[in-house]
Amino acid sequence: MGAESGPRSTNSNNTVSTTDAEVSFHGGRMMAATINRSSWLMLIPLLIMGAAHSGSNVAAAERIRTPPVARTIRVARGARSFNRVGDANKQAATIAVLKPIQTPLGKPKPGDWLDQHPDEPGQTFQEYVRARPATPTGRRTVIYVQPLGEFSEEQREIVALSAEYLSLYFGRPVKVLETLPPATVPASARRTHPQWKVKQILSTYVLEHVLKPRLPKDAAVYIAFTATDLWPGQGWNFVFGQASFRDRVGVWSMTRNGDPAESKESFRLCLRRTLKTATHETGHMFSIKHCTAYVCNMCGSNHLAESDRLPLHLCSECHAKICWAANVEPIARFRRLAEFCREHGLERERAYFVKAANLLCA
Ligand SMILES: [Zn+2]
Ligand SMILES: [Zn+2]
Repeated sequence: MGAESGPRSTNSNNTVSTTDAEVSFHGGRMMAATINRSSWLMLIPLLIMGAAHSGSNVAAAERIRTPPVARTIRVARGARSFNRVGDANKQAATIAVLKPIQTPLGKPKPGDWLDQHPDEPGQTFQEYVRARPATPTGRRTVIYVQPLGEFSEEQREIVALSAEYLSLYFGRPVKVLETLPPATVPASARRTHPQWKVKQILSTYVLEHVLKPRLPKDAAVYIAFTATDLWPGQGWNFVFGQASFRDRVGVWSMTRNGDPAESKESFRLCLRRTLKTATHETGHMFSIKHCTAYVCNMCGSNHLAESDRLPLHLCSECHAKICWAANVEPIARFRRLAEFCREHGLERERAYFVKAANLLCA
């Protein structure tokens, strides 16, 4: 099943019609586009692609050598195994404990995700467990990060920090591969946006021809980070990113997260936004649907102001999904995330993680 149960249609600015393909997208600034039933797109803020991508759309990719590993981030595994999911009852018990610090998601403002997508079904922890989700267990347990193209020094640092955060967040090793050069994406998969004059690369090309043929055998997910803007094909202005849950590949662009070189504050903002996208989208790749219950990083977001309002942390239901799927210990996880946020000046985020860890300890 698809990672998101998407809208069957959206407003006139953003037309997405789906039938068997579960498609949804965030980001309201695209021009009219129609994704038909054979579409396999999963765009995130963007579309997430679900189930039904037809094999006939996609040429069988030839295997290409995976780039060498530049850096490995290991995790303290302790006695826990990556071979199985966690104890569902134990994780379910954390939901009630954390509930007092959850903020219910109020009525959406005009133009917000739930205003535009009122049919989102939401997903409780129990529904998630019953849905037999994709989990980072068994043979595929490593998160691969693939830098693609050119980055400023600060952007490169944000990619490195995001890789570290993903490892703490999912309790999985992360391997950052050597950067693929800009020429990996040929001129035929590039354009300059006709009005904005912004250089863009075709996100579908990255998924199909850059990532899929290089997918490592032990990859839970294989994610490209790029500093170039993305567009997913004819009829679209841009996407923040795109991923295929089924193929375990995704690409996100940092270009709309602000220039981290401007100031310390702009660095933190770019870092916060990149962490939010990276964890939200990777959450989808592990079959987590949009949250409709609480203010949570798994809520859908239709525009940058809305995603800036949402927190980096998950609500108690979505938090239980991650801890169960990855078989990680919640208190230790919160403490590791708090320490990361302390080191990088994300004070609000640190305070939440500390409060959550303390509640679970009490
Ligand atoms: Zn989403
Ligand atoms: Zn949630």
